Amino acid sequence: MKNEFDIAIVGGGPVGASLACCLATSGYRIAVLEKVPVNADQQPSYDDRGLALSLSSCRILKAIGVWQDLETGSVPIKKIHISDRGNFGIVRLNAHDLGIDAMGYVVIARTLGRALLNKLVASSDIEFINPAEVISLHRDHSGVSLSIDNGNTKQDITCKLVVAADGSQSRLRDMASLNAEIKDYHQTAIVSNITADISDKFTAFERFTSQGPLALLPLGNSDFVSVFCVSNNNFQRYMELRDDIYIDQLQEVAGKRIGNMKMLGSRYAYPLKLVRTSPSFSDRVVMLGNSAHSIHPNGAQGFNLGLRDTACLAEILIKNRGYPEFDPGAKSNLEAYQAFREHDQDRVIGFSDGLTGLFYSHSMVKTVFRNSAMTLFNLMPDMKKKFVMMAMGLDGRQPSLVRGLQLEQL
Ligand SMILES: Cc1cc2nc3c(=O)[nH]c(=O)nc-3n(C[C@H](O)[C@H](O)[C@H](O)COP(=O)(O)OP(=O)(O)OC[C@H]3O[C@@H](n4cnc5c(N)ncnc54)[C@H](O)[C@@H]3O)c2cc1C
Repeated sequence: MKNEFDIAIVGGGPVGASLACCLATSGYRIAVLEKVPVNADQQPSYDDRGLALSLSSCRILKAIGVWQDLETGSVPIKKIHISDRGNFGIVRLNAHDLGIDAMGYVVIARTLGRALLNKLVASSDIEFINPAEVISLHRDHSGVSLSIDNGNTKQDITCKLVVAADGSQSRLRDMASLNAEIKDYHQTAIVSNITADISDKFTAFERFTSQGPLALLPLGNSDFVSVFCVSNNNFQRYMELRDDIYIDQLQEVAGKRIGNMKMLGSRYAYPLKLVRTSPSFSDRVVMLGNSAHSIHPNGAQGFNLGLRDTACLAEILIKNRGYPEFDPGAKSNLEAYQAFREHDQDRVIGFSDGLTGLFYSHSMVKTVFRNSAMTLFNLMPDMKKKFVMMAMGLDGRQPSLVRGLQLEQL
């Protein structure tokens, strides 16, 4: 096994694996270190969750040759229906009104993982070291050395840049002496697959309720993934309910718009916190994906935002690759990356956090305000277009891959 690399990516979850795929033909010597064995039913990043991918994510995945493996199994989101349970506010978004086929696509996280990992193991420039847990990091002015525990043995590798894509509880963050601001939402997302007798197969539903938001993302054939965010005080009770009782409760919250619901699979729980590492880099180490910012799933934006960050970092690294003496870990690259991405990150994080404040509130004033705002917003096509462009990750200054360029054009 090789020991010397240009770039070490710690974490083979969706963000780390996507960065590796972006850099697969760049000529950099890349190591991807993932602690959970790849054969992994236990790999938590690649479970049966449906992920809503925005159009910007689809473009990036297409440019790196991964979307082609996902397209057939993905389900288009043609309409979005947003409601506030027990109140009058409704927002309807329709791809057709915006002149597009779909506002995004739902893919199963496990399918995404398989496509990304297949792509990265096929690259001769990438060494996928698995299982491999990074247990320590040492830096000097010329590079970084990482100690890895791969079950039976320990080994060291060196590199010029470490990309820490090791999730919201990042150990690399501590190793790199970076700090995270953490806001506990005191909520847990309960995820389960359901089926419903509804013919509207390409509509995503988001319903704000006094327990927390419920999202239903279409999986095709009248199946949906339900993401029900409930207060931590109640979540254990929901987890312990019998399937038929849980589905009755979900039905009560969802209403009859989606038809009669039936349970398809198990329930999984994800505690919800806003985590943001600021600044997102220190000498030769940069945080990416959930280790940089982990957000509430209410807007289905976490991976989409992380993927746009990934496309930007890859672009900076690829564009400068040809310069003699170019150092991928140089502070100037990481500063340029952060400056480019800050605006999009602030906006998406602020939007998602703001939604939790506005919609998870029992105050009468806020309830009247949000329902009036929803009703007004629903009548404003230009505002809706602006909003959808933001949700699709297509507005403002975006990396070249989001603008439709291909890797070889960078
Ligand atoms: C309920 C729910 C629904 C969601 N729905 C959506 C959605 O619809 N759309 C969307 O865009 N986003 C969604 N998200 C967010 C999305 O799941 C995350 O943004 C995404 O998984 C982050 O990926 P990541 O690669 O940064 O981190 P992770 O998936 O956490 O991966 C980190 C990886 O690093 C590995 N690792 C950790 N420590 C080490 C170490 N020391 N050494 C080596 N490896 C290590 C881990 O094993 C893991 O594989 C949702 C999130 C939740 C909770």
